[in-house]
Parts: sequence; structure tokens; C-alpha cells
Amino acid sequence: ILKVHELTKTFGSTKVLDGISFDMREGEVISLIGSSGCGKSTALRCINFLETPTSGRLECMGQSVSVVNDESGRSQIINARDIRNLRRQIGMVFQNFNLWPHLSVLSNVTEALVWVLKLGKKDAEEVALSALSKVGMASFRDRYPQQLSGGQQQRVAIARVLAMKPKLMLCDEPTSALDPELVGEVLKVIRALAEAGATILLVTHEMRFARDVSNRMIFLQNGRLEQDDEPKELFRNPATEGVKRFLSTVM
Ligand code: ATP
Ligand code: MG
Repeated sequence: ILKVHELTKTFGSTKVLDGISFDMREGEVISLIGSSGCGKSTALRCINFLETPTSGRLECMGQSVSVVNDESGRSQIINARDIRNLRRQIGMVFQNFNLWPHLSVLSNVTEALVWVLKLGKKDAEEVALSALSKVGMASFRDRYPQQLSGGQQQRVAIARVLAMKPKLMLCDEPTSALDPELVGEVLKVIRALAEAGATILLVTHEMRFARDVSNRMIFLQNGRLEQDDEPKELFRNPATEGVKRFLSTVM
């Protein structure tokens, strides 16, 4: 469903991603792990083209977008018109929820359905309520974000993504802005989505959760992919000292 080929991203003179390649099949859950600053968020943002990669190729659901470097080091996007299609297939959940404060819970979810998918108001509300039910938030439809706990806001943000029926969900530390007692409710929602067959690329520091829910875990260090394995294998046989050290500090 997703092919990431030699993805590279530099900021100024720092190479944040140094040729990352991996594939994702439909229904797979992959956790991207690694210490702070190793490039996890940048990788997700490049996959979604929130950030333009410096070079590399992304294929998602038949859309293929490449970025090549010409001799002067300038990046050039090939097939830029596929970016919009690619983004339509990909939903992203952020650390800080990013709900619109002036819109009710229901409107937060219907907004993109009406403006992007061009659904009528009634259809949009139906789709939105069904997505809100999946995260246990349908009864909060008329509340505003500031009237919700962080965990509830994040569940609404997840419903907003679900309503768009993305083929791939990117989640960047969806629980790290939450008070500890609220983490569980959001993880429970993500686990349920995973079990229902969603394809999820997840960045998280919740290592036990990642181990339980993921088909594969990918470890990044210094912009390089150091290991891509089933959780069991990664924990049993860390491929490098870096993986070993990371696991020993977080577990
Ligand atoms: P964390 O676990 O703390 O969220 P991360 O693995 O998500 O870390 P990134 O946010 O991807 O790390 O950042 C990787 C590196 O790229 C960091 O050194 C960061 O300072 C740098 N970086 C990220 N965005 C930019 C930017 N827009 N301009 C310059 N440098 C950036
Ligand atoms: Mg990050």
C-alpha cells in the first residue's frame, strides 16, 4: 500500500533522513521508533508531503511521486500532481490534536467531508457520527474542543481522520501530550482500529503498546533505518548497538 524508497531530507547542512526505504502492506501496523530528534516526525511529514523530501520516491495506492536532485543540488518533484491524490489517501493524527477551537465536535469532523469530499450536510453528518461512534465520542457531538479532556480531543481528531476513510493513517505520538491517565483511552481506540484492519504507521514512545500492536517496528538512528523487524525479533535480536541501547533505556 506504501513504498518508501531512499527517502532523504536535509535541513540546511543536516541530513535528518539519510535514504530510508521500507514497504507497508494493507492492514499492517508499523511503529517507527528511535530517540528524540532521530527523524521520526520528519519521516511522517515527508510521507504526507507536509514536508517536501530532498530526494526519494513515495508510492501509495498507485500514486508515485519522486523527488530528484539535479546537479546543482536543487530538488525537483516528479509527478507533483499526484501529491494531492496521495494526500487524499493518507490521514494524519498529530500530537496536539489540532482541532478547530471554534467548531463543535461534529463540525470538526464534517468540515473536510463537506469541503474536500463534497458531501452534502446530511451525508457528512451521518459519516461523521459513525466515525465518532467508533471512538466513543458521538454523544459529545455538540461540545467544543475546550470542553473536552485531552484524551477526548484526540479521539475526536482520530474520528476526523477516520471519516475521510484514508487508506493509510499516520500517527505522530498521539498520546504524548496527554496526562498519563488519559493515554489508555486513546491507545484503546488505536488498538481497535488496528484489529479492525486499518493500516497504521505509528510514532510512539509507548514501547509496550508498540510491541503488542505492531506487525513490524522500524528503528531510526542518525537518519538511517537500522532495523525493520517483527517486534519479537527486534527485542530478541537488536540488529545494532544503537537498537540495543535504545531498548535498554526505554523498557
Ligand atoms: P521527537 O521524538 O523529539 O519528536 P523526532 O524523531 O520526531 O523527535 P524530528 O522532529 O523528525 O525528530 O527532527 C529530526 C531533526 O530534524 C531534529 O534534529 C530537528 O531539530 C530537525 N528539524 C526538524 N524540523 C526542522 C525544520 N523545519 N528546520 C530545521 N531542522 C528541523
Ligand atoms: Mg517527533
